Amino acid sequence: MAYLFPPAEPASLPIRGSAERLPLRRVYCVGRNYAEHAREMGGDPTREPPFFFQKNADNLFAGAEFPYPPASRDVHHEIELVAFLQRGGQDIPAEAALDHVFGYAIGLDMTRRDLQGEAKKAGRPWEAGKAFEFSAPCGDVVPASEIGHPSAGRIWLEVNGRTVQEGDLAQMIWPVAEAISHLSRLFRLAPGDALMTGTPAGVGPVQRGDALLGGIDGIGELRVRVV
Ligand code: MN
Repeated sequence: MAYLFPPAEPASLPIRGSAERLPLRRVYCVGRNYAEHAREMGGDPTREPPFFFQKNADNLFAGAEFPYPPASRDVHHEIELVAFLQRGGQDIPAEAALDHVFGYAIGLDMTRRDLQGEAKKAGRPWEAGKAFEFSAPCGDVVPASEIGHPSAGRIWLEVNGRTVQEGDLAQMIWPVAEAISHLSRLFRLAPGDALMTGTPAGVGPVQRGDALLGGIDGIGELRVRVV
């Protein structure tokens, strides 16, 4: 195969306890998947079916520093459970969906809330608010063969030592298996696809110098500094 110029390296994340990395293909994100967060964003969690938006695979990175992005004065944290597929498919039944998941990580769906807000108001897409460089700091991927498939447990984020986000995975409106099933009716899923599963209430702005410390029971902690 001859390319006009060298193709980009595939985006990937480290796997805990392994020399291999998990190659990333597509990154889907569930919007408003915790009722309290849906309310704080002005939605009605009882009436809305799941909806999805995307980030770019190379927006995910395992790094201790989040560079404050350009073009925004209101960048928010969203702590999330991220699921990674090792098998793909279409029309995957919810009962079989977790068999497709290789493992999980803690991730941050960093959001330029001002740009997202403008897009919402104008009925435009969210890419500028969501899919910018370094917009998804992630921890190591932890295999489900080691920790199982977490369906309950505390998910939390501290900013400078103060707890700002707190919830429980059991509060998801669309649990991982159901979200994958819905997604697979819209898109052909494949190994390397990631699903960011939404954030609990308490989102808010970050500033340069902030220390973010997040955690999910059974997975571990993620430490990120805003620079
Ligand atoms: Mn999110």
